[in-house]
Amino acid sequence: MFASIIKCGDCGRTMAIKRDYNKTMDVEYLYYICRTYRVYGKDKCKSHSIRVEELESIVLKQINDYIHKMKLVIYDYHNNSDVNLLNNKINQLKMEQDKIFSLKQNIYEDWKLNDLAREDYLRFRDAYIEKESELVKKN
Ligand SMILES: [Zn+2]
Repeated sequence: MFASIIKCGDCGRTMAIKRDYNKTMDVEYLYYICRTYRVYGKDKCKSHSIRVEELESIVLKQINDYIHKMKLVIYDYHNNSDVNLLNNKINQLKMEQDKIFSLKQNIYEDWKLNDLAREDYLRFRDAYIEKESELVKKN
């Protein structure tokens, strides 16, 4: 899902997918690993390996949390005329959105994602701008 857009935080190259077959369990695991590490070995970079499912569930959880909060703000917007309070909430969400999409949270450690769920981002940015302009009109 993210292989071409995830970059190694150390060397900046995109991550490669690595398959690992566990004979005892008879299951196959997919990992992202640094492409430099894969090609040139541990002298050039660290593996930075992470399970594909693990990364995807982290990212999806963050997006879902964000969507949930965005919905609450939109709900408030329709039911609450306190423009300042709403502006504060929207600003908080915007900060959170920036955080998600610049992915500076610890959980990602040395990971960098680019263009993550770009459509989602654009959709929420548009929704935000729309709400913002409505709020300005109200003032
Ligand atoms: Zn690397």
